Amino acid sequence: GTIEENHREAIERATTDRSFANWIDGESVAATTDETFETIDPAVTDPITAIPRSGEADVDKAVAAARDAIDGEWGDTTAAERSRLLQEWIETLREHADELALLESLDVGKPLGHAHGEIEKALEFLEYYAAVSRGQEGVQVPVSTDAHVYTRQEPYGVVGAIVPWNFPLVLASWKLGPALAAGNAVVLKPAEDSPLTATRVAQLSKDVFPDGVLNVVHGYGEEAGAPLAGHDGVDKLSFTGEDVTGEEVMRTAADSITPVTLELGGKSPFLVFPDADLDAAVETVAGGIFYNTGQSCDAPSRVLVHEDVHDEFVDRFVEAAEAHVIGDPLVEETTMGPLASQAQYEKVTGYVETGLDDGATLVAGGDRPAGDELEDGWFVEPTVFDDVDNEMRVAREEVFGPVETINTFSEYEEAITIANDTPYGLAAGVATENTDLAHRAAADLEAGSVWINTYGSTVTGGPFGGYKRSGIGRECGKDALEYYTQTKTVNVEL
Ligand code: NAD
Repeated sequence: GTIEENHREAIERATTDRSFANWIDGESVAATTDETFETIDPAVTDPITAIPRSGEADVDKAVAAARDAIDGEWGDTTAAERSRLLQEWIETLREHADELALLESLDVGKPLGHAHGEIEKALEFLEYYAAVSRGQEGVQVPVSTDAHVYTRQEPYGVVGAIVPWNFPLVLASWKLGPALAAGNAVVLKPAEDSPLTATRVAQLSKDVFPDGVLNVVHGYGEEAGAPLAGHDGVDKLSFTGEDVTGEEVMRTAADSITPVTLELGGKSPFLVFPDADLDAAVETVAGGIFYNTGQSCDAPSRVLVHEDVHDEFVDRFVEAAEAHVIGDPLVEETTMGPLASQAQYEKVTGYVETGLDDGATLVAGGDRPAGDELEDGWFVEPTVFDDVDNEMRVAREEVFGPVETINTFSEYEEAITIANDTPYGLAAGVATENTDLAHRAAADLEAGSVWINTYGSTVTGGPFGGYKRSGIGRECGKDALEYYTQTKTVNVEL
């Protein structure tokens, strides 16, 4: 069938007899506003389903339900019990992996195979925290023979979690895993562009967690996100999104001195040294910038190539960009789907304009892909700018699309200076066969993650987060559990 027909059938299959309402205190509920908005399939720009447009009153209800859960049996669970419950939930989710992958693909335009991989990744992160949960411990502090001093790690209580739309379930799992493992109850506010999988995973927790342990409130950032960020009843806030929104969230949270974890944007450099395996470097960078249609917080969006290998790198990189099969996310051959929303489309194409205006050389893409099939969806070609100066807007601001910028360097110090000349510090990459150089660069780059001869793979045990404007705190490692607990020191006179 046509892309329209395929998607109409898939939307029907994915949404029939399903509710995508808020999930509060173990049940599906409409927003108190009685209003809804539509989540759109970006490949065909058709509505998928109606989503509650929640406001402050809905957030109040969800926070109250979470508080009740903490005060109830959930508050008395042991780490081992929570580990078992998490594992049970994960098994249920895994039985629904196909359904979750289809929902994610329709909601944000990911190729279905990629969506499958990401659902599996999300489950892996949850599994990691189900396991790590059992290793939680405090310390004993040696003082004197007539005192016993020890620490307890206690859950904060109610965690507010706000997530973006680019990796909806993976990024939610980074928060839900440690927050629940540590014994908190959660109110999750998914992005308005990707409400579907969060709703289903909460519904699928129904027979596992006590009611109120996991709540989902949908709605726009200012209407549902801001009241959650500023809520007196929220004891810990974890936000992933743009840096400017992060500022706002931190300011709002300041009123109640609520601790925040912020995972924000990036403008990550990738350094290609002259001795690098060029084929591998091209593949690595192309994978990093074009996966998920460039909508990755850690996308290596600034390539700095040594002048000796620049021309060869560019030739091969353009080839890699043009090899992408752009199209229907539900078709197996597709390697790149549309951007996730109209706003994204306008933002990305706007940045392509600024690149041209600022004098960068367009060497690939820059346009909508050809073909009638794709004329409705928010598709863009993989785009490559060469001769990019680090002062240009395409090099300084987060484009969040499949747009690579290429710049050259001649000396190591120069490469590091350009790489670090950014307000962000989420990630960086290095391609070289020289181990000394690789480790030296890893130390000199101002970034929370440095990948050497690889890029972008987050691992369950490896902390992930940003330097500078890219955030506060870390997710993913064992350390992340600490961000969802507070330490109590107990002094005992013997
Ligand atoms: P966004 O900041 O617009 O929105 C993120 C979430 O915040 C959404 O749920 C939104 O509804 C909510 N929100 C918006 N305004 C709010 C407010 N005033 N108060 C409370 N909540 C509010 O970001 P986005 O466009 O959805 O996501 C893309 C951004 O996320 C990019 O900058 C990307 O780099 C970043 N990101 C970072 C990471 C990371 O781990 N560092 C991972 C993925 C994405």
